[in-house]
Amino acid sequence: MKRILVTGGAGFLGSHLCERLLNEGNEVISLDNYFTGQKRNIVHLMDNPYFEIIRHDVTMPFFIEVDEIYNLACPASPIHYQYNGIKTVKTSVMGAINMLGLAKRIKAKVLQASTSEVYGDPQIHPQTEDYWGHVNPIGIRSCYDEGKRVAETLFMNYHDQNNVRIKIIRIFNTYGPRMHPNDGRVVSNFIIQALKNEDITIFGDGSQTRSFQYVDDLLNGMIKMMATGDDFVGPVNIGNPGEFTIKELAEKVISMTGSKSKLKFYPLPSDDPLQRKPDISLAKEKLNWEPSINLETGLEKTINFFDNLLKENG
Ligand code: NAD
Ligand code: UDP
Repeated sequence: MKRILVTGGAGFLGSHLCERLLNEGNEVISLDNYFTGQKRNIVHLMDNPYFEIIRHDVTMPFFIEVDEIYNLACPASPIHYQYNGIKTVKTSVMGAINMLGLAKRIKAKVLQASTSEVYGDPQIHPQTEDYWGHVNPIGIRSCYDEGKRVAETLFMNYHDQNNVRIKIIRIFNTYGPRMHPNDGRVVSNFIIQALKNEDITIFGDGSQTRSFQYVDDLLNGMIKMMATGDDFVGPVNIGNPGEFTIKELAEKVISMTGSKSKLKFYPLPSDDPLQRKPDISLAKEKLNWEPSINLETGLEKTINFFDNLLKENG
C-alpha cells in the first residue's frame, strides 16, 4: 500500500484521481483550499478509513510523509483562473516550489499536472512535446499559461539540481462528471444550456478546435506516467487526438440531448487558441497509453451527470 498526496483533491480531476487511487488499494490524502473544488466531490469517499482530507493552501509550505505526490492544485477554467490572476500565478509557482521542496525532503515522486496551454495559441499542429509554444506573456491567459510554464521549469530544475523524482504531463481539454457547473468550460456550458433549452453560447464563429478527452482516459495516462522509471520525466502529452470545432461540439450536444437550443454567437475572447490537438506518439511509446473513450460515449456519461444534477437542484 502506497501513501499518496493529491493536491487539488476536491476538484474535478483530483476527486476522480483520489477515488481511483483508493480503489487500487492506496492510502490517499486530499489537500485542497476549496477555491474551485467542492466537498461534495469527495464526500462519498469520506467513510473510507484510508482517505484523509486536509484544508490547506499550496502556496503555504506543508509537511507530510508520503510516497507519491500528484500536484493538481490550480484553478483550470479561464473564468476561475482569471478571477485573481496574481493568486493563480502564486498557486502554480509557490505550489510547485512547496511540493518539490517536500518531495526533495521526503524523497517522494512528484507529478505535475501541466497543460496544453503551455503551447499557447499554437503555430504547429498537432502539438508535439518539443514545440516551445506561442504564449502572450501579458495576455488574459498568461497568469495560467506562464504560471504552468514556470512550474515546468521548477520541476526540471529540482530534478537536475537536486535529483528530485519528477514527472510532467501536459493535459489537453478533459471533461466528465463533476466538472463545476459554473466554471464556464465549453463542455459543461453546452450540456447545461442544451438540457435547459437555452441558447448555446458560441465564442467567435465556432471554427476554433479542441480535442476532448474523457476523464477516465486521463487517469489511466496519469497513473501510468507516475509508474514509469526515474529516467523518464516527460513532459508528455496526455490527450485525445480526436479534433472537433466548437460548432461541431455544440451540434453534437444538441442532437444527443434532443434539445431545442439555438446557436448564439459572441465575440471570441482575446488569446483564445484557434486550434489544439495533441500528438500522443510519446505517450504511446513510453507509457503504452492511448485514449479509448470516444466523444459520444464520454458525452453521454457527462450529459447523464448534469441531467441528474439539474434534477437534484430543481
Ligand atoms: P478544478 O478547478 O476542478 O480543480 C482544481 C482544484 O485545486 C480545486 O479543488 C481547487 O479548490 C484546488 N485549488 C486551487 N487553488 C488552490 C490552492 N492555492 N491551494 C490548494 N488547492 C487549490 O480543475 P481541474 O480541471 O480538476 O484541474 C486540475 C488540474 O489539472 C489543474 O492543475 C489544471 O491546471 C490541470 N489541467 C486540467 C485540464 C482540464 O481540462 N480539466 C487541462 C489541463 C490541465
Ligand atoms: N467556448 C465557447 N462557448 C462557451 C465556452 C467556451 O464557445 O460557452 C469556447 C472557448 O472560447 C474556447 C473553447 O470553447 O475556444 C474551449 O473553451 P474552454 O474554456 O472549455 O477551454 P480552453 O479555452 O481553456 O481550452
